[in-house]
Amino acid sequence: MNAGQTALLAQREFHPFEAGGETFVYLVPSAAVFHLDDPSRAVLQALDQGPTDEHGLVASLEGPFGASAVRSSIAELTRVQAIGPATAPKDVVPRVLPQAGFPLTTMVLNVTNKCNLACTYCYEYGEDKIVDTTCDTAPAYMSEETARQSVDFMFDQSGPLPMAHLTFFGGETLLNFKVLKKTLAYARERATALGKELDVSLTTNATLLREEVIEWLADNDVGVTISIDGPKETQDKFRVFKNGMGTYEYVLPKIKQLLERHRSRPIGARVTLTRQTLDATRIFHHLRNEVGFWEVGFAPVTTADGRGYAIEDTGFDQMLGQFEELAQEFLEYAVEDRHHGFSNVRDTLEEIHKGVSKAFPCGAGLGLMGVATDGDVALCHRFAGSDDHSVGSVQHGLDRQRQFEFLGKHHVANKTDCNSCWARPLCAGGCYHEAHVRYGDTGKANLHYCDWIRSWTDTCLKVYGEIAVRNPAFLKKFEA
Ligand code: SF4
Ligand code: SF4
Repeated sequence: MNAGQTALLAQREFHPFEAGGETFVYLVPSAAVFHLDDPSRAVLQALDQGPTDEHGLVASLEGPFGASAVRSSIAELTRVQAIGPATAPKDVVPRVLPQAGFPLTTMVLNVTNKCNLACTYCYEYGEDKIVDTTCDTAPAYMSEETARQSVDFMFDQSGPLPMAHLTFFGGETLLNFKVLKKTLAYARERATALGKELDVSLTTNATLLREEVIEWLADNDVGVTISIDGPKETQDKFRVFKNGMGTYEYVLPKIKQLLERHRSRPIGARVTLTRQTLDATRIFHHLRNEVGFWEVGFAPVTTADGRGYAIEDTGFDQMLGQFEELAQEFLEYAVEDRHHGFSNVRDTLEEIHKGVSKAFPCGAGLGLMGVATDGDVALCHRFAGSDDHSVGSVQHGLDRQRQFEFLGKHHVANKTDCNSCWARPLCAGGCYHEAHVRYGDTGKANLHYCDWIRSWTDTCLKVYGEIAVRNPAFLKKFEA
């Protein structure tokens, strides 16, 4: 290096985007959104041509901006790691796993593996099921004793956390209503004795929502998510009774009764999108505005390639277009401080606002676990009952070694393609269950939907940026 020359600076990893007439960058190493003023934008543009030292940058940009503004932009961009020494190694997500383990934040209790419907695409009973329930030795219904042991396990594993989240799941959860009632009463009793807070929720297909159940849900402040695929024409396509009859007409009055009576918690709808039922905007408006759900979230069907209902490339484009339309609506509502209810965009905005940077795609096997009807503990509810994905049991405790082996193997740093992807702080390779169904390996990145994920993340960043410009106070909601 000659006298007067300083170290060469280069761009680090970021994703630029424009929103509300301003320029932002999403900084991959810190998962932060950074607003660029004119000198900062000029510095990044200059470094787009290749590495330059500070002296060279100041010399070329001091004309329009002044040397001191250019220097302070360089300092600020270095601080947020948008730029750095050209020789610096690429940032990687640290692989450190706490030796003491992770406290459990959410336990999903699969209180039954039976269902009263026959949804063709179901991951539990359909063509892509993991557990063969015909030769599985686990009972169809969780016993009261196993459920109590699960509650003890949950509080024990929640460690120092002041709150535990208990979610009842199935099969069809309400088929085991008797055990639900007793388990909730026991869990509340234990929470009081331990001085912890308890949050309880469940997911149901709504077919068994009779008056007694609705009263119990409301009286016990249970959060409810209804699995429903939209208006009659989409709901009845796959969500059918075992005799093939559609369920829409049957569940609608029950859902309306629930929404009328249970007002202490927002009730959400969870929609599975398939190749045949991709009309997300129509489905959203029906469920949100015509039925009255507080929020509606969508997930594309999990399936091996080639199934009749699998979403293909043009379907992903269509889904993205509709999500973008709903995200625009969300933006206009947010600017006016109104609730919109499209939970996919809300969830991602919250992650962006909190600067979430994931070493793992989700909490499975980490702060979240699923318990099968016999008490086996699995990575999450979707793996409950699968011996290959078990990490212990509520009767005998967690198998820490298996848990750590799993986490070691599934760290985003092991996913080669993800390591050069700007969307990895929010995606980290995607759902393990999806990867298992698609590639037969939970450790693979879900590369079949990368384009979709990156486009959707870009849309959410633009919505975030525009809210930050037009109504920044709205973003405070995500700090609670
Ligand atoms: S799965 Fe695809 S979109 Fe997700 S982090 Fe990996 S490369 Fe990026
Ligand atoms: S593995 Fe998939 S289904 Fe299970 S918690 Fe993670 S994202 Fe959800």
